[in-house]
Amino acid sequence: MMKSRKFVCWILLGLLLSFSTTSLVLGGDGTIGRWDYDGENGPSRWGEISVEYETCSTGLFQSPIHLTASNLIREEGKIETHYQETPLVINNNGYTIQVDYQPGSYAIINGQKYELKQFHFHIPSEHTLNGQKSDMELHLVHQNEAGKLAVIGVFIEEEKANATLAKIWENLSETEGIQEVKEKTINATNFIADNPTYFHYQGSLTTPPCSENVIWNVIKEPLEASSQQIEQFMNLYPMNARPIQEENDRLVELIIN
Ligand SMILES: [Zn+2]
Repeated sequence: MMKSRKFVCWILLGLLLSFSTTSLVLGGDGTIGRWDYDGENGPSRWGEISVEYETCSTGLFQSPIHLTASNLIREEGKIETHYQETPLVINNNGYTIQVDYQPGSYAIINGQKYELKQFHFHIPSEHTLNGQKSDMELHLVHQNEAGKLAVIGVFIEEEKANATLAKIWENLSETEGIQEVKEKTINATNFIADNPTYFHYQGSLTTPPCSENVIWNVIKEPLEASSQQIEQFMNLYPMNARPIQEENDRLVELIIN
């Protein structure tokens, strides 16, 4: 009798532990609490929504950060892109518009090879340059064979229309999900200037789970997009930028070639 009661207690304890360590915040209908850019599941709460998101509040190498002209200047470490045309696949994932890339395109960053996986957009920019936000920010997400991530960030400023963006924007849909656009290809090469000047630092994903295995490379010179193009994105996602995080004595280098 004693034994079986003890056994039941252990099972209950086990259940409690497994709930407290693995479960996400459950909504009234039992669904997983969704992280968001404002409201009660906004950025200041991301770390509490799930244990898997804890790094969002405990991490010391979080992104985005302020970038300034006074960051340490170094004169080496090129970004070299070897991007191919890829079939246009647009993923409206509920947080941003993401374009998925087929294998075979890569960047050499500081001598390391990283495969281009996808690129996506934030409005306004997540990083700031000398205290200023840009209208938008493009993130090209790469991964090397060891699983390490490298993101190339590019500011977008309101100016002339951008022809590469236009190809994507023509096919934007309000419906969430993956859309394969027939007989259309795109090349992200057009987003990156030759031999760009860029900020280089160790940071994180800017969305949950905020993992800190990301090498950031934010290009100083912005891309241009028209006010209509910026507005069109804003109609889908009015604001999807994480607030600025503590720099915590990290080395941020401005690399000039
Ligand atoms: Zn991003």
